Amino acid sequence: MRTAKDLIGRAEAIVVLTGAGISTDSGIPDFRGPQGVWTKDPSAQRSSNIADYVADPEVRRRVWQMRLASPAWTAVPNAGHLALVDLEWQGRLRTVLTQNIDGLHQLAGNDPARVVELHGTMREVMCLACGDRGPMEPVLDRLRSGEDDPDCLRCGGLLKSATVSFGQSLVAADLIRAEREALECDLLLAVGSTLTVSPACNLVDVAAAAGATVVIVNAQPTPYDAIADAVIREPISEVLPRLVA
Ligand code: ZN
Repeated sequence: MRTAKDLIGRAEAIVVLTGAGISTDSGIPDFRGPQGVWTKDPSAQRSSNIADYVADPEVRRRVWQMRLASPAWTAVPNAGHLALVDLEWQGRLRTVLTQNIDGLHQLAGNDPARVVELHGTMREVMCLACGDRGPMEPVLDRLRSGEDDPDCLRCGGLLKSATVSFGQSLVAADLIRAEREALECDLLLAVGSTLTVSPACNLVDVAAAAGATVVIVNAQPTPYDAIADAVIREPISEVLPRLVA
């Protein structure tokens, strides 16, 4: 803890990489942890596959009901998110690269221009046919009034949350920006990510190879613990405020 605090205290250009673990204290379950959505129900992972989503109306109906019932709509940022806002106010945060789709970094108060949502956002919908994007809320209202597979009002195409599902490519511009940030930071702080999914894992490699200090805060071990300068396993919402203070 003291090593990590010293390293973060000295850093001037910090890039934070966040995963599901930072939002669990806001009541949003993670995917791969002991209480994870996919750990408890492996079939739920299938709903995140774009091919099944496009091919099977039954999958879409189930996914829309899951979206409607998501705890994220009422979730509020926790002390972990707020610590990263503090870091921004200190002038030492370059970017938050997040694997999360819940939008809690922006709700906490981080400048949206400093948040790169690598897996997209659940707060918007996108048409798979015409590419039209819009806010999620009006589509949730259509579900509440009885539609079970709402289509694009512009072209009739399939709608989906503006997130990156399995089988979909990441947005190239976001990926390029994330790699540049990892390359140019002096410290990479990985928080609440298992660091097992690309590009999150590659970004740790990029930062470390470029000479940046690497600090990892995660409940479970990650494949990058051995190359990290400090590893912390304590609860994120307790430890992050102390680390950046
Ligand atoms: Zn459309």
